[in-house]
Formats: sequence, C-alpha cells, structure tokens
Amino acid sequence: MLSREEGLLIVISAPSGTGKTTLCHMLLKEFNNAVFSVSFTTRKPRKGEVNGKDYWFVSKEEFERRIREGDFLEWAKVYGNYYGTSKSQVLKALKEGKDVILDIDTQGALQVKERFPEAVLIFILPPSFKELENRLRKRGTDPEEVIEKRLKFAKEEIKRARFYDYIVVNDELEVAYFKLKSIITAEKCKKDRFLKQAEVFISDKELLKLLKGGEGE
Ligand code: ADP
Ligand code: 5GP
Repeated sequence: MLSREEGLLIVISAPSGTGKTTLCHMLLKEFNNAVFSVSFTTRKPRKGEVNGKDYWFVSKEEFERRIREGDFLEWAKVYGNYYGTSKSQVLKALKEGKDVILDIDTQGALQVKERFPEAVLIFILPPSFKELENRLRKRGTDPEEVIEKRLKFAKEEIKRARFYDYIVVNDELEVAYFKLKSIITAEKCKKDRFLKQAEVFISDKELLKLLKGGEGE
C-alpha cells in the first residue's frame, strides 16, 4: 500500500528562445514539491553555470561509459554535444513523491514516453518564428551564427510537437503559465492515477470500497 502520492514526471520541450526556462522557473517557485532534473552533458559550461546545479558537466569518455552502463533514462546529441537524464536521480525523486521536471529536447522526450508512458509531455510553442528570433536576440546570450543554428533546429523540434500530450503557445507569459499549471493540476487528478493511489488521498474506508467498485455500507 502506498503511504504517499507518487510524483509526476513532466517533460517540457520547446525551441530554444521560446521561454521554457522562464516558465520552468515559475513552476519551481510555485510547486514546492517539484524538482528539476539536472542533466549530464559534454558541452562546456557557459559563464555563470554551476556544476551540479545547471548540469553535471562530464567528458565524452565519461558520458559514453554511462551510456554503456545504462545510467540514462534517455540521452541525445544536441548541437554536437551529448545530453542525458540520469535514471536513478529521476526514479528516486518520483519515489519520494516529488514531481520531476525534465527540460529536454524532442528526441529525448520521445524516448521517455516510450519507456515511461505515464510521463506528461508538454511542448511550448513560440507565437511565430519572427517572435522566436526577437526573443533569441533580446536574450543576448548567443552570437549571430548560433542564433541561425537554433532557428534551423527549431523547425526539427516543431515537427515533433504533434507527438506530445499538450501544446502551449507562449505568447502572453502569464497566460502560458496559467495553462501550464492547469495541465499539471489536471494530470494529478486523472482517474487512473487517482485510483492507483486512492488510499493516499482518502481515508474513509467506505468511499474507498465504492471507488474500487465494491458495495458501500
Ligand atoms: P528558452 O529557455 O526556451 O531558451 P528563455 O526562458 O531563456 O527561453 O527566454 C528567452 C527570452 O524570451 C528571455 O529574454 C525571456 O525573458 C523572454 N521571454 C520568455 N517568455 C516571454 C513571453 N511570453 N513574451 C516575451 N518575452 C518572453
Ligand atoms: P543548452 O545547451 O542550451 O542548455 O541545451 C540545449 C538543448 O538540450 C535544449 O533543447 C535542452 O532542452 C536540451 N537538453 C538539456 N538537457 C537534456 C537532456 O538531459 N536530454 C536531452 N535529450 N536533451 C537535453
């Protein structure tokens, strides 16, 4: 019998510059039960990035060893670097009742859905390509050639949005955030998820019996 609610695995993808980081920070601030999964990567840290907080920065050799040893829930090559999600970190947090947010690309997200069908896949879409370009320039973290590369890659990402469970357009930030948190709240009330752990939510024995299809008093 479960003694506490199991966490929800939430996968969020978006073309770079859409506002995914902004939205994920808003979620983490409000849902204090949620944690962000820190990925492993072979890319070099950017200015201000901290090992163990933004990513676990590792060598190509270490990453490939971890692939061989089956450490990853999913992994992919993005912009020439490896990125992967630690299976043990995610499973441990879910067992502890935490909701886990994965900020990963579409290749990785589809691997997660295959291995973990109850994961909730949410794709964040920019309102237009023009606006995506504006946001990338406004953010000011990338040189021109990187912006071009990101816009090209965005098209590949958007082609896979139709395999996700939800699509949210990030036009007005507050509206997009409201939709995002509504999805998570609704997912937590899904019938199958509720019935699987009904004892956690309800202590009334008669209610429980009725919920499971038995006769009440
Ligand atoms: P991502 O993580 O998807 O690459 P960021 O969260 O870094 O994107 O956002 C990219 C830029 O767009 C940032 O400067 C951010 O402040 C801005 N931004 C995010 N959401 C919106 C929005 N709804 N409207 C306008 N600007 C936004
Ligand atoms: P960045 O290098 O800009 O932080 O991330 C580049 C891309 O890699 C983003 O689309 C991000 O979502 C994706 N990414 C980050 N971590 C992972 C991961 O663990 N797995 C996969 N598949 N993609 C990731």
